[in-house]
Amino acid sequence: MKIVYSERFLEHETGAGNPETPERLVAIVKYLKENNLPVIFDKPKEIADRDLYIVHDEEYIEKLKFLSDMQQGGGDNPFSMNTFKIAKLAAGGALKAAENSENGFSFALIRPPGHHASRNAFGGFCYLNNIAFTVASVIATNIKMAMIVDIDQHHGNGTQDIFYNDSRVFYLSFHQDPNTCFPWSSGFEKENNRHIKNVVLQPGIKDAEYLKTFQDNFPKYANEFKPQLIGVSVGFDTFYKDYSCGNAIDIQDSATYNKIGSMIQEQAEKIGARVFAVLEGGYYLDTLGQNFWSFCSAFL
Ligand SMILES: [Zn+2]
Repeated sequence: MKIVYSERFLEHETGAGNPETPERLVAIVKYLKENNLPVIFDKPKEIADRDLYIVHDEEYIEKLKFLSDMQQGGGDNPFSMNTFKIAKLAAGGALKAAENSENGFSFALIRPPGHHASRNAFGGFCYLNNIAFTVASVIATNIKMAMIVDIDQHHGNGTQDIFYNDSRVFYLSFHQDPNTCFPWSSGFEKENNRHIKNVVLQPGIKDAEYLKTFQDNFPKYANEFKPQLIGVSVGFDTFYKDYSCGNAIDIQDSATYNKIGSMIQEQAEKIGARVFAVLEGGYYLDTLGQNFWSFCSAFL
């Protein structure tokens, strides 16, 4: 199994108090190596600034470069010297995982994450929308329909924004009720259309109910839409010990991530879709590696 990774992802520095740290990736790589897991580390694809215009406005890209050069920003989205370059490398990492998926499942172990970045705005630790860039790029070349399944605790407002009027992409998101957590203003069921489906989960939901909700929705939509490519935005911030806003989705057993992965794999096989995944959130370092591998091992 190819895991797309570069040590350069550690160069994006976020400063004290920000949970989106380089140590997140260090913890996952350490777990994979210490347990001798059957993975091959693969390098991200190099992309040009203009490639990003497929999902981001040109002025927005210029703004990111400027803020990065000036090392400005703050809060959830600080800019260190290399932030723009590393965000671009992360987008190239997601694209590489999608390309790898022609020969089997591949995971882009990347940061900064992407699903809160819209066409012209950053937020929630995200600068460039890695999965949207990837799906839009692949659809522009050799496939007709793609599905993005988002299992991060938070709604991928950026991904929804980018594909809201693009019926070639089905966006299916399972996330905590945005009345109770970030991004607060989007992710409600009233926003659903024919190819946007927000499944709102109440805080406190645990493994069995989460899996049942996933089983009630994912196979049905995947089977109806029949995507050729499935991209999964994976966030491990649904784990009960993870950073969250108060009462959160509480997945208590690592094995639940394996069961989610297995449902995706089984349905993808039925409809003949390729599958890749990208890392979004997940901040509780002690179990991040275990949860990551639990998900990946469903695709062995
Ligand atoms: Zn999240």
